[in-house]
Amino acid sequence: MAEIVLDQVTKRYPDGSLAVDGVDLEIADGEFVILVGPSGCGKSTTLNMIAGLEDISAGELRIGGERMNDRAPKDRDIAMVFQSYALYPHKTVFENMAFPLRLAKVPDAEVRAKVEEAARVLDLTAHLTRKPANLSGGQRQRVAMGRAIVRSPKAFLMDEPLSNLDAKLRVQMRTSVSKLQKRLGTTTVYVTHDQTEAMTLGDRVVVMRGGVVQQVGPPQHLYEHPANLFVAGFIGSPA
Ligand code: ADP
Ligand code: MG
Repeated sequence: MAEIVLDQVTKRYPDGSLAVDGVDLEIADGEFVILVGPSGCGKSTTLNMIAGLEDISAGELRIGGERMNDRAPKDRDIAMVFQSYALYPHKTVFENMAFPLRLAKVPDAEVRAKVEEAARVLDLTAHLTRKPANLSGGQRQRVAMGRAIVRSPKAFLMDEPLSNLDAKLRVQMRTSVSKLQKRLGTTTVYVTHDQTEAMTLGDRVVVMRGGVVQQVGPPQHLYEHPANLFVAGFIGSPA
């Protein structure tokens, strides 16, 4: 676990477009923060810079007090879950979740303990011997989350993890996501364009527009005291 600090973090793509423009953000150890905003506002780019999947053009990223700008993704100890995720079709749910631990040559007994714990939190205990093809979409996404967290990363990043699910399942999965985050206590950054998801899931919400942070605060504070008309309109505040 670790705090994540973005200090004037900026992304200019090679074509010259400014996708993220001087973002300042301090995420506390164990906090659950949601990045929300309309499509194209820079949410994924911000998350990808934290993960190391995109270079940072200017500014500094620190995780647990250490500068991360030039550190390879694999050396950041961060887990990430995307909207679309690939499970190994021929492996069981257990082995899919165990995969990162097998790669790291973790002893069998520890693998079993960690996968079983993740399965409990994600309500997958009854499905451990199944193959991905025999699971529902929500169960498959939970396996992807389980696989991401079995290694107890310092931080957990999710980019629209529920977008591919139907509306009813999306609502049910919110409960799984919040339960998982609370149980693990891992610093989490969650990206969504869905206002309801943003307002119900996290400790604090970061509203972005055009690569710029508009407001940061607990959901209720944003709702009652939107910083500007954009925030008010976007989150449907009565102000
Ligand atoms: P979001 O995740 O909020 O929808 P993105 O972070 O994907 O937004 O994109 C932010 C902006 O950066 C958009 O204008 C998008 O078109 C642009 N962008 C994203 N990826 C690239 C890229 N690889 N090259 C150039 N521009 C990009
Ligand atoms: Mg995106």
